[in-house]
Amino acid sequence: DGQISFRDISFHYPSRPDLTIMDSVSFDVYADQKVALVGPSGAGKSTIVSLLLRLYDPVSGHILFDGKDSKSFPLSELRSQMAVVPQDVFLFGDTIAENIAYGKPDATVAEMEAAARQANAWEFIQRFPLGLDTVVGERGIQLSGGQRQRIAIARAVLKNPRILILDEATSALDSESEKLVQDALDKLMEGRTSLVIAHRLATVRQADKIIVLDKGRIVEEGTHNELIGLD
Ligand code: ADP
Ligand code: ADP
Repeated sequence: DGQISFRDISFHYPSRPDLTIMDSVSFDVYADQKVALVGPSGAGKSTIVSLLLRLYDPVSGHILFDGKDSKSFPLSELRSQMAVVPQDVFLFGDTIAENIAYGKPDATVAEMEAAARQANAWEFIQRFPLGLDTVVGERGIQLSGGQRQRIAIARAVLKNPRILILDEATSALDSESEKLVQDALDKLMEGRTSLVIAHRLATVRQADKIIVLDKGRIVEEGTHNELIGLD
């Protein structure tokens, strides 16, 4: 078994029992591997992440985590092992510090600063006084897409998760922020199990395995070279 294993997962959303979203999907993500999920919009990529986080449970099949049914873990324990850098970064508080600390509410200022530095968020954060004692005044709503994304990365660094999940993490950025964010992500992914959602094959060339989904089924699986026919 992998660190994450999907075994014959079938799924429909409770609100739409007539609509099969996932049909007998099986795959493994081994420790320290970077696995990419690609496929057109509506293929079921985000649903896989929701199932992994147990926002929903599969209709049939099993999701194993370290070889054990993910249902056997308390939700908080399961979720504490994963960090998600989402497509649209949701900000939880009014301040940068609150937003970085989300998911680790007992974080110290020093920890937050270290996370921000590691996520290349330091430069812009330095413009504001980061320190919970002098609560950062900048409201989340005023941050640019690139800044929000770097906050999400800092949040993930602080959590130090065993599994990192990236959902189209750089899709909405201009090329300058994209480079900064990508550098931060590359650092964050080093030596960590990661699951990366992408629209385009070209953005996940370095993945250990690429899983191509379409209409809730795996249609292809392999390395980038295998999928484009070079191997
Ligand atoms: P994307 O294609 O970028 O993954 P979508 O536009 O398909 O995103 O979906 C955006 C959000 O709306 C998702 O969080 C998804 O959970 C929700 N959503 C999508 N389709 C439906 C639906 N038929 N009913 C309810 N919520 C939906
Ligand atoms: P992708 O991430 O590949 O774009 P999704 O997993 O978001 O695909 O969506 C897969 C299918 O599930 C789509 O048909 C979408 O409309 C549907 N869907 C997503 N979220 C919901 C939801 N909350 N309720 C009902 N249907 C949903």
